[in-house]
Amino acid sequence: MNQVATTSSDAKIAKVNLLDFDRQGLRDFFTQIGEKPYRAEQVMKWIYHDLEDNFENMTDVGKALRAKLNDSCYIGPPKTMLDKAATDGTHKWLLGMDKGNAVETVYIPEPTRGTLCVSSQIGCALNCQFCSTGAQGFNRNLSTAEIIGQVWVAAKYLGNITHQNRRITNVVMMGMGEPLANFDAVVKAMSLMRDDLGFGLAAKRVTLSTAGMVPQIDQLSDAIDVSLAVSLHAANDELRTELVPLNKRYPIADLIAACQRWVARKPRTSITFEYTLMKGVNDQPEHARQLIKLMRKLPTCKVNLIPFNPFPGTRFERSGATDIRDFQTLLLNAGVLTMLRRTRGDDIDAACGQLAGQVTDRTRRSADIRKKQDEESVHAH
Ligand code: SAH
Repeated sequence: MNQVATTSSDAKIAKVNLLDFDRQGLRDFFTQIGEKPYRAEQVMKWIYHDLEDNFENMTDVGKALRAKLNDSCYIGPPKTMLDKAATDGTHKWLLGMDKGNAVETVYIPEPTRGTLCVSSQIGCALNCQFCSTGAQGFNRNLSTAEIIGQVWVAAKYLGNITHQNRRITNVVMMGMGEPLANFDAVVKAMSLMRDDLGFGLAAKRVTLSTAGMVPQIDQLSDAIDVSLAVSLHAANDELRTELVPLNKRYPIADLIAACQRWVARKPRTSITFEYTLMKGVNDQPEHARQLIKLMRKLPTCKVNLIPFNPFPGTRFERSGATDIRDFQTLLLNAGVLTMLRRTRGDDIDAACGQLAGQVTDRTRRSADIRKKQDEESVHAH
């Protein structure tokens, strides 16, 4: 996302957005404009510790360099189009990315931590059947600036100014999109989340969640130290392919093998398997038994049960309270570490799988879905 600046000679020069660079990229950029790389680190601290987007306020940067920066680059976070607070303290921002497209970012405060849920794409191409982002279709990948910019905007809003006493203690790549389908931009953004001169978060506090892109799981373990969550939702291939179409390409056995390689390379980390419970679909004792069998292959890993969050037009329903409890008990009794995710931000549609944003769909999926809904309502009459 370049801005165009007009110089005195009237030649048009594309300005670069500094939020697009990780630390090395920023050092390279400063070298390119004839400055010492340590200057890049000085500016980086201003951007991510002080949440400063105006070079003029960077008091330890000399006047000449400030002028040079103003000519060649800018600090461009996404624009806040809407922000909403839920009664439980959850906060949601709608952030404009370009004309016609916006994504949602959610902050979830808890007594001992604050988690920011960040989006990686405008819409999503994977078409998971129970996800409202999937139903919206896909437009494009977000840039590094648009991803790290979500953390920047939320941190600034929440008053995350000092490094101590931070409000955002955890970031999860669980917003709109499949992060591993936007590998390079996501890895760069996560390296800024991890970097001491960035947001300085430990590896266990930055989590990438994937629907199961097997080759990219291996690539990720080489690229950066972060935590991994895998969206499983079913422990047999027939049902999983129905819920998560990507399973056709990377079936459960391949996915589990990739997870075993991940754990072998990172022995001190564990993987969280997300399992959204849908009434009568994947919430019966037989499903729990299949999941237990699968989890024996990954004894250090955890299961996170998510009661399904409904959205307009979905054919699924949330499992009943008894079924949810029974499912969890079966897992716990089998020795599988299992957590039940509490639903937060219900009153502002900020729960998992409800993030919608504004997507100019290029896959025509949303149009097809609308057509199908229209046809169904005609038949119903
Ligand atoms: N594409 C990534 C990250 C985005 S979804 C992934 O698939 O992991 C973040 C989590 O929310 C995933 O586990 C997803 O399966 C879950 N989810 C999606 N829709 C949901 C819904 N309607 N109710 C509950 N969880 C949902």
